[in-house]
Amino acid sequence: MLHNHLLTFKTQGPIAVRNITPDVQRFVQNAGIRQGQILVFSRHTTTAIAINEDEERLLEDLSTYLTKLAPPTDTYLHNDLELRPNIPEAEPRNAHAHLMAITIGNSQTIPIIDGALALGTYQSILLVELDGPRSRSVLLQAIGMHLV
Ligand code: ZN
Repeated sequence: MLHNHLLTFKTQGPIAVRNITPDVQRFVQNAGIRQGQILVFSRHTTTAIAINEDEERLLEDLSTYLTKLAPPTDTYLHNDLELRPNIPEAEPRNAHAHLMAITIGNSQTIPIIDGALALGTYQSILLVELDGPRSRSVLLQAIGMHLV
């Protein structure tokens, strides 16, 4: 059986991490899948999905680390809006956020065992906003068996 669901969030920003584990767990329970997998997929180019520890100081470190990798104040080709064809009116100069998102990745797959997410003790599913605040959606797609 396949189950799809769209989660929507209003994020903080510019960089903000939200623990979406309870939302994903609730969906898995409602879907009734006992054994399978779930895909957690960000539908944006400036957000990312990570699995890691939801610890306040670590998440501060993550923000510092990403900002060192791709400083918002650096010069980027993507930010030369006048050189890009057909861009929307309110196009942001956000190359740094795209690069951060590419670095982390935009999806994770988690095993479902005995009806629960098989996450490790310190693992949470984190939606990483990199160009917020914005409205965002995360697609969940669970596949598996209801019995056994
Ligand atoms: Zn952009």
